[in-house]
Amino acid sequence: MKKWVYLFEEGYREIPAERRRDLLGGKGAGLAEMAGAGLPVPPGFTITTEACNAYFAAGRQFPEGLWEQVLEALHRVEEKVGRRFGDPQNPLLVSVRSGAKFSMPGMMDTVLNVGLTDETVKGLIAQTGDERFAYDAYRRLIQMFGRIVKGIPGERFEHILDRYKAKTKGKQDTDLTAEMLRDIVEEFKALYRKELEEEFPQDPLEQLRQAIRAVFDSWFGKRAVDYRNFYKIPHDLGTACNVQTMVFGNMGFDSATGVAFTRNPATGEKELYGEYLPNAQGEDVVAGIRTPLKITKKASQEWAREHGISEEERRLRYPSLEERMPETYQQFLEVAALLERHYRDVQDLEFTIERGRLWMLQTRTGKRTAKAAVKIAVDMVHEGLITKEEAVMRVEPEQINQLLLPRFDEKAKERAREKGDLLARGLNASPGAATGHAVFDADTAEAWGRDGRPVILVRPETTPDDVHGMIAARGILTQRGGATSHAAVVARGLGKPAVVGCEALQIDLERKQFSVNGRVIREGDFISIDGSTGEVFAGQIPTIDPNLAEERELAELLAWADEFRRLQVWANADYPRDARKAREFGAEGIGLARTEHMFFEADRLPYVRQMILNAPEAQRLMDQLRAAQQAAQARPDDPKAQKALREAERAVRTSKAVKAYRKALDRLLPVQRKDFEGLFEAMDGLPVIIRLIDPPMHEFLPRYEELLAEVVELRTRIEERRKIKGYRPRKGEKSIRQMEEELAEKEALLRAVNALREMNPMLGLRGIRLGILYPDIIRLQVRAILEAACNVKRRGITPKPEIMIPLSADVKELQIVREIVDEVAREVMAREGVEIEYKFGTMIEVPRAALLAAEIAQVAEFFSFGTNDLTQTVWAISRDDAEGKFLLRYLEEKIVPENPFQVLDRKGVGRLMRMAVEEGRRTRPDLEVGICGEHGGDPSSIEFCHEIGLNYVSASPYRVPVARLAAAQAALKERAARIETR
Ligand code: ADP
Ligand code: MG
Ligand code: MG
Repeated sequence: MKKWVYLFEEGYREIPAERRRDLLGGKGAGLAEMAGAGLPVPPGFTITTEACNAYFAAGRQFPEGLWEQVLEALHRVEEKVGRRFGDPQNPLLVSVRSGAKFSMPGMMDTVLNVGLTDETVKGLIAQTGDERFAYDAYRRLIQMFGRIVKGIPGERFEHILDRYKAKTKGKQDTDLTAEMLRDIVEEFKALYRKELEEEFPQDPLEQLRQAIRAVFDSWFGKRAVDYRNFYKIPHDLGTACNVQTMVFGNMGFDSATGVAFTRNPATGEKELYGEYLPNAQGEDVVAGIRTPLKITKKASQEWAREHGISEEERRLRYPSLEERMPETYQQFLEVAALLERHYRDVQDLEFTIERGRLWMLQTRTGKRTAKAAVKIAVDMVHEGLITKEEAVMRVEPEQINQLLLPRFDEKAKERAREKGDLLARGLNASPGAATGHAVFDADTAEAWGRDGRPVILVRPETTPDDVHGMIAARGILTQRGGATSHAAVVARGLGKPAVVGCEALQIDLERKQFSVNGRVIREGDFISIDGSTGEVFAGQIPTIDPNLAEERELAELLAWADEFRRLQVWANADYPRDARKAREFGAEGIGLARTEHMFFEADRLPYVRQMILNAPEAQRLMDQLRAAQQAAQARPDDPKAQKALREAERAVRTSKAVKAYRKALDRLLPVQRKDFEGLFEAMDGLPVIIRLIDPPMHEFLPRYEELLAEVVELRTRIEERRKIKGYRPRKGEKSIRQMEEELAEKEALLRAVNALREMNPMLGLRGIRLGILYPDIIRLQVRAILEAACNVKRRGITPKPEIMIPLSADVKELQIVREIVDEVAREVMAREGVEIEYKFGTMIEVPRAALLAAEIAQVAEFFSFGTNDLTQTVWAISRDDAEGKFLLRYLEEKIVPENPFQVLDRKGVGRLMRMAVEEGRRTRPDLEVGICGEHGGDPSSIEFCHEIGLNYVSASPYRVPVARLAAAQAALKERAARIETR
């Protein structure tokens, strides 16, 4: 006969440790292990997850032998505690507790006091001599059983309870008298009868049977199924069911119930951390019916200080467990220490004290904040509890990202919460904390932001029209939308905290205010949002801006990570200040410096525009000249050719376009040179990959539609003025002449912008294509890079420039550009008399480049996967058009498991990458390969990059520590897998 039921100590003896959680669930395994270790655990047994699965396989019937085994186990428990289930003199009561392998909201709640009936309640009175307690226990059973097992709405019971409470002086449940509770029991039974058309079961075994069935049934309850779907937990694990002798924390003031962590889960401090309630039963602490007290004296005193409570009053009204029951407290400390040593991790404990006697009810791995996770892991290594490898594996890379973002002062946040300033909770869409004035439109955000006022932009949802306001805001809060909504995606891109989908807010844009739970926040009122937790607060909460050197434990953990990883971690940085930050965070190179970002700065944009607008005409004339020169050289005696040459020369000499083009290039040279010097200085001795100009040209120019509108408006205004006879401009107004001049200028610009307009800019004149057409722009950039390198080298700095070509698709493109680069480099080095070592390489961001990697590696000395564009081109998805739109649906319908722009698509994009690495290295064994797309900072993608043997990943500066940890974990996982297969 199959064994479905294990007494706690049997579970410990008979089931191997690694199977216990599968078979007994997390709670059952913990109870078995505590009982096995000889800790005080109320006797009981666990019905296995296999029994649950068999129950469903049999069409919701107990499998053969199960009920008999339950009765047998119950019998053994009765013998142990010397009480009998259903005994009218000395009844045994039990709790029925669900517990799957993973703790899961939506699973059945626990039913306490099972076994109480009209008969046995008398026995309980006799046993305890406390009538009030007994009827209170009984009414709780009917209430919990009715609600949890039978689905009667909880408020129907509460309603009756409230009616009785109202009759008392204190109006609390503790004020109800024994007689009242007896009456309540009668009313509860009547309610039960009315709701279900059956009696509350007076057979204790019937109660037990129904409760066990309800635990099993809850495994396929809607909320539990949804939860498992979301977290990809298999549906065939089943839940276990624990039946355990009741112990009572509500038997007077020498009894109590509580929860505790073996270390502080917020800070990681090595101190017992927890709360308890005297004279209370299990669920009361969590339900918050009274203010729980602190367990340690120290915590109690701190709490009193914060609440302005005198030491005297504290000792009298809010004593710690340490003071109230010193011996039990000592015993609890020892139990906690033992459990932590046993599990080698922080434990989250539930306990009850019955008339001075300690009982352990639950132990599990404690959830913790990012800060605590790091501190605990590092401390435990120093304590000799775990190895460095384990410490590195224990911290989630995403978690440490939070540690380095601005965050709220925890204490201040706690106070805000206690003050009732927590307004609502939304989706934690983009981490970090921000505090500022609430504003309700992007223009106000921008205007206030310009004045240096911190603002939080609050919108029902955001659209591209709000982006300027988002840039100006410290944080973003929306009422609607999910994790890939526009607000969420843009906020993450901007690195700003955001809380989205905060449905509780009622935003009134007309009146510029929102209300939530009856509270109104108007424009200008301070609010604070925590993008890491999704919390929204009224008022100002001070933020802390962390730095790695001060995060001593994190720095230590990362140093260990560095010992294990094989991947290098570089950073994407366009400015020296970002490069410095990246280096502080441990970056070992710059994987991507985007030169066009430098062009966007206000002092250069006019020259960049001049360069772009004049390039086509100037280049045409210069190309003509070159053709004429070649013709004249080939036919020195042909007068026609000589004449053509002279004409071409004159055309170039007199062309306004050529003049403007050259002037723009001349102006940009020193500016770029300075940019690069700054980068080389910041990264002294480390490689710096500089990518030549890339984006679609129109990004530098005014928008066509806006320009068109301006031209039309100006035209009409001029016409209107003309119609007015003898029109004279008023003061401050432009004359018609001036307006006409302006119009002419705008029209010329419009024509130029129109000429550069593309049907599909994403697939247009981008990347290297531009350089092929306008080589002078590349010459300018290469000159600036090499001159900068020479300059800093003379100052004793070691520059390691690597010149990178964007968006190449064929080796010929690279050959052409490489010739230009080498030629300019030779020129500069000869002129400066300085030798610079540089590398030449390319981004791999279109499929064709990946397919032809073997050829491309003949010219390129390094590859860098631009996985943003590579994902777009492999999928044929434009990110801007997809995210927050159809991609959302794809994610919901699980057509894609994850957003491929956040988590590298290993199957598709990854396959191309793997191939390109292999083929590229076949041509050039020392080919340097890295990744510079956003994926370079994503832990799962980093794991893949490790797998396919990249040399480095390049991430944004703030994500460098995340990448260091993720790279180490990838290496350790690989090592573990190797050992396993051996
Ligand atoms: P959850 O998984 O929601 O924590 P539990 O099964 O742990 O559910 O039980 C809920 C509450 O009831 C907890 O506070 C627990 O300590 C308490 N409890 C459960 N079983 C018993 C028992 N046999 N005696 C006393 N309290 C109990
Ligand atoms: Mg519990
Ligand atoms: Mg690109």
